[in-house]
Amino acid sequence: MTSGDQHAGRPASEPDGPVRVLYLAGSGRSGSTLVTNVLGQYAGVLAAGELRYLWQRGELDNRPCGCGRPFRDCPLWSRVRRDVPVGRAAEIAAGLRGRLRMRGVPALLWRARAGRRAVAAHPDDAVLTGLYTCLARHADARIVVDSSKLPPYGALLDGLPGLDVRVLHVVRDPRATAFSWRRRRGLDGERDQRLMSRPPVWKAALLWSVWNAVTVRLFAADPERYLRIRYEDLTADPAAALARITAFAGLGAQPGPLVAPGAVGEPAAVRLAPTHSVAGNPSRHRTGAVPIRADDQWRTDLSRWSYAVVTALTWPGLRRLGYPLGRTGRTTSTGRRGTPLGVPTGRQEG
Ligand SMILES: [Zn+2]
Repeated sequence: MTSGDQHAGRPASEPDGPVRVLYLAGSGRSGSTLVTNVLGQYAGVLAAGELRYLWQRGELDNRPCGCGRPFRDCPLWSRVRRDVPVGRAAEIAAGLRGRLRMRGVPALLWRARAGRRAVAAHPDDAVLTGLYTCLARHADARIVVDSSKLPPYGALLDGLPGLDVRVLHVVRDPRATAFSWRRRRGLDGERDQRLMSRPPVWKAALLWSVWNAVTVRLFAADPERYLRIRYEDLTADPAAALARITAFAGLGAQPGPLVAPGAVGEPAAVRLAPTHSVAGNPSRHRTGAVPIRADDQWRTDLSRWSYAVVTALTWPGLRRLGYPLGRTGRTTSTGRRGTPLGVPTGRQEG
């Protein structure tokens, strides 16, 4: 499902069973925006973006939808807004912030380990279930892709009756994500004067460690409902990675947006139509033929000190997720480093 407009006026049918939510979990700047936009090109899929921010950034701030219109003017979200209590958006946003605080994570893990619902029940839970259900209905989608990433929100959704949550854990080398976080980037694109947060590398490294470890602890024990994909594997072989993801999501065999790679050495590309993603990295607005290539500027531009700090703070996770401790890839005769595809930059990592 790429544009809700095509479904306008069609009677929306109730889904047969629980709505399937493909939840992209992990830490930021790991490629989840690209994966979300790519999945949104398949029939029966709604790329909904970071739905945990729907109430604040969508409803209250009226920031642009992935289709380019202000949230409240988007045809899909206009229909959804009639079915959810948008008048309570501020209250619902505050309630979510309170339930998803970092300091609540140890108790959340403890409850999950004890076999209890990780995020305790709350009166707004029915609103959240209703949101995903009516989103699927209005978008005529079987699968809602939610790229919120925050593991506690994924655990919250996982505890809601009426939702069938599958977790896609997207990971990326933390030296690359720490470098990416330091870039200056407008909240909704280059012309936006408001900048995305730019945490120092030590903070980016700690968040990488915490959120990836929590994702593994919460979800990885159930291989039927958990799949881990490395950004580096996706950029090295997009066709293979997408085949794994679509099989996991239950999409069946259908042509995806991957276009045939050009000459040898050319990166693969995907053809992206606009989605209706709410909130998230500004790269969600990219459309047309978008190359999939490794963004490895960090290999040359991340300082030695930053590299050492991030490596020291993330080494257990690095080992667990299969990343080397030292810098890999050698500078080739063209000045590039020998990494998958070996092509520098391409800011798709959100
Ligand atoms: Zn839209």
